[in-house]
Amino acid sequence: VGSGRIMVHVRSGLIGAGRLVLLVEDRTAANRLEDMRRDFVANVSHELKTPVGAISLLAETMADSADDPDAVRMFAERMGAESTRLAGLVHDIIDLSRVQDATTMTSERIPVAEIVGEAVDRARLQAQARDVAIWARVSQDIDVVGDRALLVTAVRNLVDNAVRYSDGGTRVGVTVRVAEDELVEIAVVDQGIGIDADALPRVFERFYRVDPARSRETGGTGLGLSIVKHVAADHGGEVTVWSQPGRGSTFTLRVPAAEPAETKELA
Ligand code: ADP
Repeated sequence: VGSGRIMVHVRSGLIGAGRLVLLVEDRTAANRLEDMRRDFVANVSHELKTPVGAISLLAETMADSADDPDAVRMFAERMGAESTRLAGLVHDIIDLSRVQDATTMTSERIPVAEIVGEAVDRARLQAQARDVAIWARVSQDIDVVGDRALLVTAVRNLVDNAVRYSDGGTRVGVTVRVAEDELVEIAVVDQGIGIDADALPRVFERFYRVDPARSRETGGTGLGLSIVKHVAADHGGEVTVWSQPGRGSTFTLRVPAAEPAETKELA
């Protein structure tokens, strides 16, 4: 039970014939879950209200500036940006609810090169826009077992973050190897801004952002890494991070290898 509270119920109806029955129940875990659920709903409402509020305010102001085409264009662009943010948030909330319900998970054998290739392809536009180069080194003969869509989402979130928290002219790399414990390690390495040691343990929490302004500016929702953490757990794997401010970060996703797995790299 750790340092949490223990509730002791004494039910008077159970006391009789010299016997006292104490029902000891660990409320700690249940309370913690309930607190988490409440926090999540509060956070989601807050995060949704911000762009929705901005869009309605912008629409009102735009209506008042109907005779000024430049102002109308500017308000329309800002409404577009807020809508994109809202869409991203809704998308991530749906992803998060999917990964939290492992019963809908599929399981198949997938070449890890396909997962990485798909994730990198989807991040390429954003990388080009930010002048960040992406490279991937994946041997063709490593397969994993799991849910293709979830694994692509997880790797994509890591690659997206690596791009978004890097400056122009830097490189993001993806490497894959089979670790001794029959797990496939997919590492996403960047030369970006890095993460302070105090913030590092919190980055996998829902809605935690080290720099909320940079997260929002680059289309962040604060949910990406919690989705990755759930995908890893759903597959019986894990995700870890190494980071040094100013030098960059490496996020490593470990998921089970399909049998037999070869470590040999193809040229
Ligand atoms: P967000 O949508 O804000 O990026 P995430 O859950 O994906 O949310 O990440 C949480 C926070 O962790 C980010 O806001 C950012 O501060 C930090 N972070 C994540 N990935 C990186 C990275 N590759 N480099 C630096 N900071 C990162």
